Amino acid sequence: AAPGVSDARVALTAERRGVRIVAVGSGKGGVGKSTVSANLAVALKKLGHHVGLVDADIHGPSQARLMASEGQRPAARDSRMIPIIGAQGVPMLSMAHLVPDGQAIAWRGPMVGNALGQLLDARWAEAGVDLLIVDLPPGTGDIQLSMLQKHKPMGAVIVSTPQDLALIDATRAVSLFEQAHVPMLGLVENMAGYACPHCGEVSDPFGQGGAEAAAGRMGMPFLGRIPLAMAIRQASDAGTPPAAGDDAVAEPFMAIARALSE
Ligand code: ADP
Repeated sequence: AAPGVSDARVALTAERRGVRIVAVGSGKGGVGKSTVSANLAVALKKLGHHVGLVDADIHGPSQARLMASEGQRPAARDSRMIPIIGAQGVPMLSMAHLVPDGQAIAWRGPMVGNALGQLLDARWAEAGVDLLIVDLPPGTGDIQLSMLQKHKPMGAVIVSTPQDLALIDATRAVSLFEQAHVPMLGLVENMAGYACPHCGEVSDPFGQGGAEAAAGRMGMPFLGRIPLAMAIRQASDAGTPPAAGDDAVAEPFMAIARALSE
């Protein structure tokens, strides 16, 4: 394993003051990073962690929909925001909460850093949160740099699809975190095989094992694979995180949460 990985795993369960940050990144968009972030938060909560969720994906904030908190507005006290409560009682805040509904976010570097700071400096501890899952935008832009320079995460999780292109992009995201000495907690392979909605059988249009092998090459743990499943998309769109159930759809997310907290 890469240096620092085991330390970071211990820190995930250790009692500590303050709020620890786990950043969730990806090389490119549309690989399911937001879906994984939301369900990781729900799954970690089911395992007893005091977890909150920050949607820092400035290009397409989607956590309000995934976590059934669309249209809610966070209050503030002494100019620090109070997290709103999303699906499954997970405290959360999103970039979308900082702008009026339907307005596009077109901020440049310093404003972006400022917005991220506001989300991370919210009243998390008072909301009972000591572990923050931060859904980053895809790629390696201003938010990532601000995250690494000012709000050092205790670790990073990278989400990728099995396709080679996504994996190559993921490698770039990994090296960004490694340059900043942020421990890689592991790689999640999403849309890994297609789960037939009729019989449940999983087929693998993109082949199997590519992400696990890539994680091995990069010296980081492989946290698990989540199939491409109609049930995941439908539950996500309905604001009922699939990880919240106790069925086969929830299990891949629970397995990843267990791998992270073991
Ligand atoms: P990203 O945050 O990487 O841009 P999203 O989490 O928004 O990606 O996912 C993109 C789309 O793919 C969404 O419509 C989402 O519901 C769907 N999706 C993500 N993961 C899965 C999956 N494992 N099975 C089915 N649909 C998925």
